[in-house]
Amino acid sequence: MAEVRPVPEPQAHQVLLQVLACAVCRTDLHVVDGELGRGVLPVVPGHQVIGRVVAAGANSALSIGERVGVPWLGFACGSCEMCRAGRENLCPNARFTGCDVDGGFAELVIADGRFCLRLPDGYTDTEAAPLLCAGLIGYRALRMAGEEPRRLGLYGFGSAAHLIVQVARRRGADVYAFTRAGDHAGQEFALRMGAVWAGDSTGPSPEPLDAAIIFAPAGELVPLALGALRPGGTVVCAGIHMSDIPAFPYALLWEERSIRSVANLTRADGADFMRVAAEARLDVETEVLPLGEAGRALELVRTGRVHGTAVLVP
Ligand SMILES: [Zn+2]
Ligand SMILES: [Zn+2]
Repeated sequence: MAEVRPVPEPQAHQVLLQVLACAVCRTDLHVVDGELGRGVLPVVPGHQVIGRVVAAGANSALSIGERVGVPWLGFACGSCEMCRAGRENLCPNARFTGCDVDGGFAELVIADGRFCLRLPDGYTDTEAAPLLCAGLIGYRALRMAGEEPRRLGLYGFGSAAHLIVQVARRRGADVYAFTRAGDHAGQEFALRMGAVWAGDSTGPSPEPLDAAIIFAPAGELVPLALGALRPGGTVVCAGIHMSDIPAFPYALLWEERSIRSVANLTRADGADFMRVAAEARLDVETEVLPLGEAGRALELVRTGRVHGTAVLVP
């Protein structure tokens, strides 16, 4: 539903951006559905924003006309124990874009210039937008999957997986894509994007996996993914929200298998991943919709009917 709000004035360190594109993430759905237990409703969702600076507050590091990205981490305090340890993704005072502060499902957005990311050349606005969360969180999850996994499982093949399969392949990994049972279109999409195998998440893995990343918000995938791991392997849960994980036999975890989550991002992740994206020139599959169809875009994400990433353009 469209809404008219006054144009905000950028304060110190802030910039006012004209939104060029904003990609849709499953987290936007969790925000709208009130599943995160945080956020200031009614907030403007959207945390994969490509924007051009149209006004800058005092001490802004960005200049008028620059094209930048606004990611999920909109602010971190810089002085808490986590921030000082280089873990600003876990800052208790963090503010998240499109959750704690208004995001990019809009024509204009205010952002803290210190947390905006420089974008790699060679990507259009709609191609660059999905890099800001799908790509970035996927990349952090890949890093948490351990030293160079040779056989990597991806559970849920949507926005993040279609980018990360390309990064993993370039590093020599074979990627196994697990989708909802019977999702043949999703499995074909995964094979086209570079997976060596694609099949139902409810079935066995054709090979023992060194690591698995779960992008789908379904807790029942955790024991399934654990069961597909070789000894010492890791399951990384990359989503911000997941249904309850069912009880499972200890034997699935035994032999030094581990389960971990990945939360948010640091600016260092952002800079790293943008470098990786510049080198790799990732193939970004998008479904572009006008901003006025934000509600429909969210429903497409909910039902898993987007192959790649839905992107809104004002
Ligand atoms: Zn996201
Ligand atoms: Zn902090």
